[in-house]
Amino acid sequence: MKLYNTLSKKKEEFVPLEEGKVRMYVCGPTVYNFIHIGNARPMIVFDTVRRYFEYKGYDVNFVSNFTDVDDKIIKRAIEEGVSSDEISKRYIEECKKDMQGMNIKPATKHPLATEEICGMVDMIQTLIDKGYAYEKNGTVYYRTRKFEQYGKLSHKNLDDLRSGERSLLVTGEDEKEDPLDFVLWKPKKEGEPFWESPWSDGRPGWHIECSEMSKKYLGEQIDIHAGGEDLVFPHHENEIAQSEAANGKEFAKYWMHNAFLNIDNRKMSKSLGNFRTVREISEQYDLQVLRFFMLSAHYRSPLNFSADLMEASRNGLERIVNAADHLKFLMKNAKGGAMSEVENGLAAQTDVFVKDYERAMEDDFNTADAVAAVFDLVKFINSNTDSESSGEYLGKLFHILVKLTDVLGLIVDQEEEILEADIEKLIEERQAARREKNFARADAIRDELQAKGIILKDTREGVQWKKA
Ligand code: AMP
Ligand code: ZN
Repeated sequence: MKLYNTLSKKKEEFVPLEEGKVRMYVCGPTVYNFIHIGNARPMIVFDTVRRYFEYKGYDVNFVSNFTDVDDKIIKRAIEEGVSSDEISKRYIEECKKDMQGMNIKPATKHPLATEEICGMVDMIQTLIDKGYAYEKNGTVYYRTRKFEQYGKLSHKNLDDLRSGERSLLVTGEDEKEDPLDFVLWKPKKEGEPFWESPWSDGRPGWHIECSEMSKKYLGEQIDIHAGGEDLVFPHHENEIAQSEAANGKEFAKYWMHNAFLNIDNRKMSKSLGNFRTVREISEQYDLQVLRFFMLSAHYRSPLNFSADLMEASRNGLERIVNAADHLKFLMKNAKGGAMSEVENGLAAQTDVFVKDYERAMEDDFNTADAVAAVFDLVKFINSNTDSESSGEYLGKLFHILVKLTDVLGLIVDQEEEILEADIEKLIEERQAARREKNFARADAIRDELQAKGIILKDTREGVQWKKA
């Protein structure tokens, strides 16, 4: 599998640090408002990356933070006359609702910056002890020039940066040793949330948050660190400087960045007044359409949001869902029995679509081509099934379609109703597994039923079930 590494500016073969495992960190949103559709792009893209690794059999430890202490959150809290905590908690909840609507799997861990301050203070202290940071009047700065590889991710040259940063010298930050130095800890201002530290009552800089949370939940070295392309500099460059100086090890092996989402061919920004929240979109479209739209382009290509493209995505997704519905309808009425010889031959032809799909995904997650392979499969299904098809053959096609669309996070099997007879059968199987002390299987069955909205209760009279 190949993926483009911003660090080397090349597509590289993916080799995990530990066999069969992927450790992945994706920078999450700052929670001071509803997320906008630009924020949704990295969420959808990297959730799809995760799902493909899982499809390949990797065990993925996926960590994505919420930045819940920030100037923008404080500003919003003052405007509303509430605490920062209230603002961040509110928008984390709203963000989670949007994520669910876009079928984004919850991360293995969603750390909150405010709950990890102790670790950040420790990391800053390590950087001071190692000579990579210094304190001035309660503020701690990173000594950028001391980290010799600074600029390796963004491919920037320190001297070019210096001339670009000259303006900083006259903005009152002249207590810094060098204009390139950045903040690790800053003292509180009146009315701001704060934590105690050896240097001042204050709060951490944004960059140190991710260095610490990544280390705490994934270890000092990780496979993939990801986010939008605006994060390459300075955020990710600074994370590398902090983590590698503190831990003495290469931080992340692969750095992945999605390109920006524009709107009507213009940069989406608050000042232009053209930004759209995911919530607004959900009033007009099923969020599956938004997901499908995002995946119709390669993640490293800029993508333009427009009403026309959303309509096209709605139609495209409908074609896939219709094919799944068509199969379900045929399956319900199909005669039992095994595949005929002819069907066997036809089923074998679907390998080509799976191969095309995998080839696309293995080429730096080319979801646009993967979607094209799904459309080929849909076309094949529509022209090679009818009321004479066997249940086994239809089931096989359905299974392939669901498997491939599931990696893209598209739900094509929307109203799957579990039949009472099937529930009873699974409960019996679970009882048998328990008698054989196969508790793993028993638990798996309970989880499978739970996923379908069926809750089991073990009573003295036997197992009872109800719909959640
Ligand atoms: P923020 O809350 O601004 O830190 O952004 C959270 C994530 O959304 C980061 O990975 C950003 O790079 C990403 N992001 C923000 N705006 C856009 C956009 N217009 N297109 C794509 N990604 C974006
Ligand atoms: Zn980050």
